[in-house]
Amino acid sequence: MILRHLCSLIILSAILLNACKPADPSSSGSPAQKIDKPQVYVANYPLKYFAERLGGDAVVVKFPAPADEDPAFWQPDDATVSAYQSADLILMNGATYSKWAEKVTLPESKLVDTSAGFKPQYIEIKADSTHSHGPGGEHSHSGTAFTTWLDFTQAIQQAETVSAALQELVSKDVAEQIKSRMTSLKLELDSLNQRLLAIGNKLVNAPLVASHPVYHYWARGYSFHLQSVLWEPEVVPDEKAIEGLKALLAKHPAKWMIWEGTPAPESVAKLEALGVKSLVFDPCGNVPDEGDFMSVMKANIERLEKAFHSP
Ligand SMILES: [Zn+2]
Repeated sequence: MILRHLCSLIILSAILLNACKPADPSSSGSPAQKIDKPQVYVANYPLKYFAERLGGDAVVVKFPAPADEDPAFWQPDDATVSAYQSADLILMNGATYSKWAEKVTLPESKLVDTSAGFKPQYIEIKADSTHSHGPGGEHSHSGTAFTTWLDFTQAIQQAETVSAALQELVSKDVAEQIKSRMTSLKLELDSLNQRLLAIGNKLVNAPLVASHPVYHYWARGYSFHLQSVLWEPEVVPDEKAIEGLKALLAKHPAKWMIWEGTPAPESVAKLEALGVKSLVFDPCGNVPDEGDFMSVMKANIERLEKAFHSP
């Protein structure tokens, strides 16, 4: 009797659940089938690249930050925050990357922090002065350094976390495909890692200066002896900025400045006058104008190899 009651209860709740379900477009065989795929929202471009490369056409990856903003300091509007909240999976960079996420509640069960695995190795930056780039207003880089993926051993861990999270969303067969794509992605990331290690070995602590404080993990990972200023590629340094750099160079005689993007020719000339050459190492936090994460990183490393080749 009890059993029969239980059965009818289960049947009843199944009917109720079905009634609440939104219409399933795939059952009608319509071309709108793809809206049935798991929706994956990501916090930055490296995670978009990993999720798309690993997930293939089994998932839909969304990265709504505008192309001309730094996704770390970007502020999504309410509708975009809701879209993140209703995703099937939210891939966050972690290490305090998405400042916007501190002010909203994201569903714990959908949220994956891709850098949680190396949290004990986070780098804390001591206070710097605030400054601004883009429409996000003033910001500071003090606190936890967040450009985690520029140490490619950390990028591998982030990609592996993405891989594991995506496998949860798909069938067993597709999960196997994701695993094998992860194997090839890991090989490529590891090759980038090896090349940077070789450059670090060659430079043996030669001082370098970065145009912006976003290279902490890169410097630690590859033993680059790096100090930072707060310059922007598109802004030509004024007299005050040049004086600041001169003071830095007096203690830290760098011959190279590492830039996030191509610097203005006038900036390059001002640096050359101080005996400092310019090199671009694009962190690629947002979608690149050309190529993809892997081609941008390869070009970054080729520039370093060329600059620091043995005479
Ligand atoms: Zn900044």
